[in-house]
Amino acid sequence: MERLGLKPSRKLVTVVLTGAGVSAESGVPIFRGPGSLWELPEARKLAARARPPWNNRGTWEFYEWRRQLVSRCKPNPAHLVIAEMERYFEDFTLITQNVDGLHQRAGSRRVFELHGSMWKGRCPKCEEIVDLPETPLPELPPKHSCGTPMRPHVVQFGEPVDRLALTEGIKASSKADLFFVVGTSAVVHPAAGLPFLALERGAKVIEINPTETPLTPYVTLSLRGKAGEILPRLWREFLSKEA
Ligand SMILES: [Zn+2]
Repeated sequence: MERLGLKPSRKLVTVVLTGAGVSAESGVPIFRGPGSLWELPEARKLAARARPPWNNRGTWEFYEWRRQLVSRCKPNPAHLVIAEMERYFEDFTLITQNVDGLHQRAGSRRVFELHGSMWKGRCPKCEEIVDLPETPLPELPPKHSCGTPMRPHVVQFGEPVDRLALTEGIKASSKADLFFVVGTSAVVHPAAGLPFLALERGAKVIEINPTETPLTPYVTLSLRGKAGEILPRLWREFLSKEA
């Protein structure tokens, strides 16, 4: 914390942005790089049948398979510390690119999901978003109360991110004192712009990632390694220096 020139306090406006790396540490299959989902033949087969407009059986079979994989994963220490941060700071915002719901399972209450959630469905007719916590679902595709088959409330390739989550992310980043970028290469826009908004406003930006990212040269502090190991250590240090 001394390295940051920051006095630990509940009053620091704090933002956490998380990405796939945090999920991967819980064993959630990732979409890119070695060890990704696409190395599993079953994933390729199921994904091939997931098609626009996404409210069909093929899409849901792929999602149900993923939902079941994720339901067997557990939040890791990074998720738990982030949930603790929410309880600690007076002004705290969590923005995630993950769709697996592990932040909520770790105890985070206010989670802005830029890419939606695999535990929600959306009616293409009414645009209403519905919680679908049970897996397997009794019916595929699940139907909205109006009778229309729903699609997963997950941003598909080429679709814009969740507007509310982005608005909240921009708002929070623009007033942040402390900004954590955790387990994301921060190359995917618009999430990639959020740490820069925070930097512009003078926030201390801490990056935690196993490898260097395009953001690394710009941040206040960049820490290499697993979020589940680094974040709890950093958090203990923060609390021990609390004013
Ligand atoms: Zn409807």
